[in-house]
Amino acid sequence: MSDLRPRNRTSRLVRRRRTIVVTSIVAVAVLVAVVAAVAIAVAAPGKKAPMPVPSASGSATTTPTATPTPSPTPTPTPTFNKSAQSLDDPNSYWVVVNKLRPLAPSDFAAADLVEVPVPYVNQPFLRQVASDAVVAMFAAFHAETGLSMQSQSAYRSYSTQVRVYQGWVDSLGQAGADLTSARPGYSEHQTGLAIDINALPDQGCALEVCWGNTPHAQWLHAQAWRFGFIVRYPGDKTPITGYESEPYHLRYVGVQLATELHNTGVTTLEEFFGLPAAPDYAK
Ligand SMILES: [Zn+2]
Repeated sequence: MSDLRPRNRTSRLVRRRRTIVVTSIVAVAVLVAVVAAVAIAVAAPGKKAPMPVPSASGSATTTPTATPTPSPTPTPTPTFNKSAQSLDDPNSYWVVVNKLRPLAPSDFAAADLVEVPVPYVNQPFLRQVASDAVVAMFAAFHAETGLSMQSQSAYRSYSTQVRVYQGWVDSLGQAGADLTSARPGYSEHQTGLAIDINALPDQGCALEVCWGNTPHAQWLHAQAWRFGFIVRYPGDKTPITGYESEPYHLRYVGVQLATELHNTGVTTLEEFFGLPAAPDYAK
């Protein structure tokens, strides 16, 4: 019995040590489990947050890229098809005519020219869609400002442009004429998609740079895209278009393209379509 006591004492000590060791092991195991659980819980939602960042690189998996893409892009047409219409065919609403890109054939005349039912200085004709757009634009301008506009000059045939250009050559010389008016076969007015707009009644500055200061010009600059028109010759783009500022010259390109130009802030067809600048005629 006496022998047992110390044995019992030692075994109790051992048991206590074992208990302490086992308890501490269990405690550490529980701690590790808790830490792991917390780490997983924290990591799971944390992974969702940085997802949109790598999606910008495009190399992320398909699932995360699909979710964040629609929210940061407000543009309705992020993949605008620049090849949807011809830039060369004079019948195309996107035809680009400048000093390096004459109409082909040079005496082209659109088949759907109609008289534009708006007030005018010179009786205006345009292609049907452009005419409808002018009527809608003039009506919206009047409704929104209480002011009125009229057509100064719209479609000009090849033979008319011969006379117009010669008139400018007579008064300004050829160099001056080339800054103001197009040579026959090179005029946007021959496409039936371009119109020079004036105030009604005429308040001066018709067909001049100073017309840009009128409320009419400022409204057109900001709103014409809604009706498919662009101000074709901006004052800061003479080296690209080859023309000085013409705040009165509006070119119909269709609502889709005009909206894309408005949204992207690109102001010339040459820049938008990556065409060469056309400061002057080919020598
Ligand atoms: Zn014009």
